[in-house]
Amino acid sequence: MKTLFLNPPSFEDFDGGAGSRYQATREVTSFWYPTWLCYPAGLIKGSRLVDAPAEHLGIDEVLAIAKDFELIVIYTSTPSINNDISVAEKIKDFNKDTKIIFVGPHPSALPEETLKASNAIDIVAKREFDYSIMEIAQGKKLDEIDGISYKSNGDIVHNQNRKYIEDLDSLPYVVDIYKRDLNINNYIIPYLLKPYVSIYTGRGCSSKCVYCLWPQTFSGNYYRVRSVGNVIEEVKRTLELYPEVKEIFFDDDTFTANKKRARELSRGLKELNITWSTTSRANTDYETLKMMKDSGLRLLVVGYESGNQEILDNIRKGITLDEAREFTKICKKLGIMIHGAFILGLPEETPESINDSIKFACELDIDTIQVSLASPYPGTQLYDLCIEKNYLVKTDMVNERGWQTCSVQYPGISSVEIFKSVERFYKKFYYRPRFILRILKKIIFNGEERRKILREGSEFKKFIANRKKVLKGIS
Ligand code: SF4
Repeated sequence: MKTLFLNPPSFEDFDGGAGSRYQATREVTSFWYPTWLCYPAGLIKGSRLVDAPAEHLGIDEVLAIAKDFELIVIYTSTPSINNDISVAEKIKDFNKDTKIIFVGPHPSALPEETLKASNAIDIVAKREFDYSIMEIAQGKKLDEIDGISYKSNGDIVHNQNRKYIEDLDSLPYVVDIYKRDLNINNYIIPYLLKPYVSIYTGRGCSSKCVYCLWPQTFSGNYYRVRSVGNVIEEVKRTLELYPEVKEIFFDDDTFTANKKRARELSRGLKELNITWSTTSRANTDYETLKMMKDSGLRLLVVGYESGNQEILDNIRKGITLDEAREFTKICKKLGIMIHGAFILGLPEETPESINDSIKFACELDIDTIQVSLASPYPGTQLYDLCIEKNYLVKTDMVNERGWQTCSVQYPGISSVEIFKSVERFYKKFYYRPRFILRILKKIIFNGEERRKILREGSEFKKFIANRKKVLKGIS
């Protein structure tokens, strides 16, 4: 079947596609590659991938493209599900014979609800959907395909789950699909060099953080990795296809979850003489970090999440504040930059624990931060806990513009107070003399950095103004 993979048109600048771990319009424009859709796109000859938000395509342009396809695979998320259903319905109105499949964490966690939500959705492919989609496109009978739920004579049928893919080397290189269907200049992450290319060297994570979406609903609670040789070959292919690329980002759930393998891969990367960045937990040891740095590592994205130990214990982060301090010290010593991720509104948050997080981030004095609101996605332990304890105040997670809103409240703090604290957090961190001095140095001595900082600064101001509008709507 002629197959179209679609990140559907959504809110303006909505970074919620098949590569985004939490889906929202960001503080500063940002788009992750729709990597999860690229694997099956690479398995199906003659397929096409359209990333509508990154291409700024509206529904009419998407309908014009969709009319040439028999099978349409839509990547959806909890914040965008209603929008994505309406896109599916418009496609179906246009051509009632088109088969529509929904994929992603949301339909993986709620297959029955997703199918029942609209007559336009024919099939849901759960968890890793690479081979499920390939088999559907090849015309295999639906009752013989693992990992899908579908409608049959008015009933909903759930086939057995598909086993997680152990041989990740058998999957195609996503960079070939980036080259075929995407424009790398559309993909910007403020803390990464531009242009960057993102690749997964493994799937899943062995940690058990209760709020974390992908491992619980999608990629699995253990870390499966590609062979070093296979990753190196894809990196070489990237350099051939994109000689202009400034940085490769290994966007595994946690690259350093398997330290031995992180070192092996670093050894292989050293010979390529590239700049790369990746993810890490805040407890990676000196030797591993040193090897990573020596092989071209520039920056780590680190989920600190909170500066309060009780909160870290509540979310099963498995890390102490002192470990995080020590790790940060080592990174600074080695010259590794850090983008630190924090979340407000995690279980049992209070005004004091938020203050602890703000103080902790300032104490660490890392390069950049991102402050998100806790998002209780269906299928996560956080969601179950919020339902059980009545912490959930709303389920839509974003407003009508795609801006994150706060869905939770706790005995010690309201959802509005949590929401407001995000702005305070950013201001306390970024308006410190030490940080401003660092930025001024960059502005004075580096023209490219100057343009980037000024653009991001003006987007950030817009973001703060927009948050005030959201606040008016909720308080
Ligand atoms: S370590 Fe990171 S990727 Fe792994 S479960 Fe925790 S938050 Fe998720």
